[in-house]
Amino acid sequence: MSRAVIGLDFDGTIAETIPLVIDLLNKRYNRNVSILDIKRYWFNDFFDLTHEELSEVFAEILVKNENVELVDPRIPYILNKFRNFADIYLVTASVARVEYLKKWLEDKKIRIDGIENIVNKTEFIKGDVFIDDSPHNAHDIAASGKKVILLTKHHYVYGNEIEHKNIIKASSWEEIEKIVPKLFGVE
Ligand SMILES: [Mg+2]
Repeated sequence: MSRAVIGLDFDGTIAETIPLVIDLLNKRYNRNVSILDIKRYWFNDFFDLTHEELSEVFAEILVKNENVELVDPRIPYILNKFRNFADIYLVTASVARVEYLKKWLEDKKIRIDGIENIVNKTEFIKGDVFIDDSPHNAHDIAASGKKVILLTKHHYVYGNEIEHKNIIKASSWEEIEKIVPKLFGVE
């Protein structure tokens, strides 16, 4: 039997890039959007950037900031536990920064099984379960018939409006730590 596969998102899911992105966009477009605003709405609703523009901003954050923090300091430990029963692939849309991703993962002592550069996450067909903080991605993945854990930390109002039988909401990594083994029948 082949091992289970977890598709893991990067920005906002394991790396705390969202507040840095908001700062950068506020400066660039002379705006005053706060982290509280983005708890209510998808943050790009405030800036209305194209996918390419947004992707470039995320790449810039990782290249310029040596201190992109973990969303939760226990993530390396939790992912290591998951690797006892599943392979983990980082599935991310940002094409321009794989080297920086690898370096960041190494710095944070996160060990995974591969990086997949895919814009539309439903195309990562070997994934059995996805962990993502984007309500848009969660919706698309759920609609494709896969399970997705939606981390609602950065947008709990908007994220919580999304309902689908394949979406399991988690407000923290502590919750994800408990949910994932159950999904794979491992306790
Ligand atoms: Mg994300």
